[in-house]
Amino acid sequence: MPKVQRLKCCGTAGIASLTQTGYRGGMNKRITFSLSRTDGKARTGTIRTPRGDIRTPAFMPVGTAATVKAMLPESVRATGADVLLGNTYHLMLRPTAERIDRLGGLHRFMNWDRPILTDSGGFQVMSLSQLRKLTEEGVRFKSHIDGSDHMLTPERSMEIQRLLGSDIVMCFDECPALPATEEAVAKSMRMSMRWAKRSRDAFGDRPGHALFGIQQGGVTPDLRAESAEKLKEIGFDGYAIGGLAVGEGQEAMFGVLDYAPEMLPEDKPRYLMGVGKPDDIVGAVARGVDMMDCVLPSRSGRTGQIFTRRGVLNIKNARHQDDPRPLDEDCTCPACRNYSRAYLHHVFRAQEIISSMLLTWHNLQYYQELMQAMRDAISEGRFAAFEAAFHAQRAEGDIDPL
Ligand SMILES: [Zn+2]
Repeated sequence: MPKVQRLKCCGTAGIASLTQTGYRGGMNKRITFSLSRTDGKARTGTIRTPRGDIRTPAFMPVGTAATVKAMLPESVRATGADVLLGNTYHLMLRPTAERIDRLGGLHRFMNWDRPILTDSGGFQVMSLSQLRKLTEEGVRFKSHIDGSDHMLTPERSMEIQRLLGSDIVMCFDECPALPATEEAVAKSMRMSMRWAKRSRDAFGDRPGHALFGIQQGGVTPDLRAESAEKLKEIGFDGYAIGGLAVGEGQEAMFGVLDYAPEMLPEDKPRYLMGVGKPDDIVGAVARGVDMMDCVLPSRSGRTGQIFTRRGVLNIKNARHQDDPRPLDEDCTCPACRNYSRAYLHHVFRAQEIISSMLLTWHNLQYYQELMQAMRDAISEGRFAAFEAAFHAQRAEGDIDPL
């Protein structure tokens, strides 16, 4: 992979030379996916991109506003992340896609030279913005930041993601809030499929960049099948399973994942959007999912909720205040190697900034170590045993107080 030259000074001359000498040659290569092993329905493989490989199953930390909160990009990489997720909705409003483009694209802007996947903005328009008007054309809405008017359509979403320089671009779709009637879910899914075609047409042919379609259809197998057929007819570089993790609960989600991934092409990556807790992730991988993203590990790091091999603990609790032991004996992150529970409890209670830094690092590293453990287990054909051990260790609960 060609390396980006580290420029000693910034400015337009530097950016121009980066554009000319950076990835130009390499960016002509197609993004490919190869499966190296399956174990039951679980799969492991590699997505090859001009900006580096993504080992699957992959967990993508969320860098909403061009930063994974409380983390330097090199720290995110050190946790083992191969790819980040960026949010179109947030970036289009602030600092705007056009500004990021003028400054050399999102990778350069946020100092992350590995792959970036961007969402389409559709989900957050529906969840965050005010005064939305949904039509066949797209969604008109007011910014939650300053009330300004915006219109997001499949074509505009593709343009924004192109300006950002996203490596993996998501189709613009509509995700109906659950619970919804089957009729409403069907109507919404069919519009999302028309939008998927418009996204495909607007995206065009861009070697070095991938476009993923998004399956919808709620919890109804026939609708999921209809959506998958439509997407396959249009043809995408990867396929997401959308419309889950929106409050339906794990049982209903797994119910859909029992059949939905197999409706999608076997030779393309399958991405479950917005998932999830560690046990959601293990269950999704067991059902044939290759990629996931969630704000949970980073957001929880800032609120003191810690994920470990023994389940969840809250660093705020008084039981940690005299405890010299690490959060997780088996974790290799800086928070576990160099600091005690007592210290982490103290800096959390004192609202010191280092608390968010260390706890976010730990949670992200725990997630990446979980992904690596799953990749190893699938490669070695022992995923079922891994899954049993994962649940057994969590069932033991946190170490006893001193
Ligand atoms: Zn740790």
